[in-house]
Amino acid sequence: MRLGNVELFVLSDGQFRVDGGGMFGLVPKVLWEKVIQADELNRVPVALNCLLIISEGKRILVDTGLGRKLSPKEYENHALRREQGDLLDDLQRAGYTPSDIDIVINTHLHSDHCGGNTILRDGAPVPTFPNAQYWIQRREWADACYPNERTRNTYLPENLRPVQESGQLTLLSGGTRVTGKVRCKVTRGHTRAHQSVIIESEGETAVFLGDLAPVAVNLERLAWIAAFDVEPLETLETKRAMRDWVLERHALLIFVHDVRMPVGYLREDEGRFRVEAP
Ligand SMILES: [Zn+2]
Repeated sequence: MRLGNVELFVLSDGQFRVDGGGMFGLVPKVLWEKVIQADELNRVPVALNCLLIISEGKRILVDTGLGRKLSPKEYENHALRREQGDLLDDLQRAGYTPSDIDIVINTHLHSDHCGGNTILRDGAPVPTFPNAQYWIQRREWADACYPNERTRNTYLPENLRPVQESGQLTLLSGGTRVTGKVRCKVTRGHTRAHQSVIIESEGETAVFLGDLAPVAVNLERLAWIAAFDVEPLETLETKRAMRDWVLERHALLIFVHDVRMPVGYLREDEGRFRVEAP
């Protein structure tokens, strides 16, 4: 895909399954199952979309999926499917190798967004992208390094420490410009310092929303907020502001977890919001 002078590739680290109640929080199942069908274990399919951005000579990867470090048991618990391979296979199909990546941006440090930050070499985790700096919000890093009972199963040291030890960690203090066309914006709610990535070139706009709106319906309906969000009322207001902004700009939206609509445009029709495929 091209957006002005920027090249975009939506890459996939596969698909897994998550409890439907986790995905839609307070929304009753009778409502959400009209949108996404659950399996016999009440789980819904969830994509692991990542974004490769080529801008001003920089190769920027946004989010890294679940990665390759899962044990067979974890693989099975996640019901992970990778018929087309994983993120690194997809990267290769796009014509790039891990050493080509200059910058990795993690929207946040939950294990389904940074599991591919590191890879096992001789049984020990090392950075997957040897020449990249990993751009992470300072506050997100702090929350991940000092998890609590609710967050410690998803903030995993093996996805974080090797990046710091190799000197590849760049901590961000809020919104930060990456290139002339790409910037990170803190979009609080899912975590305290969750960030989205905005691409603007030649009057066109695209947004990698991350878990601000993991699937399209989360943006169409503001009250549909995942139970995983640590600050759901912040998510609500962040989404309200983002929804108006993307509508105004007719922005291309990239949804990290949507299996049917990885990219789309938001439209408003008499107060009803709908995401449509390009
Ligand atoms: Zn996620």
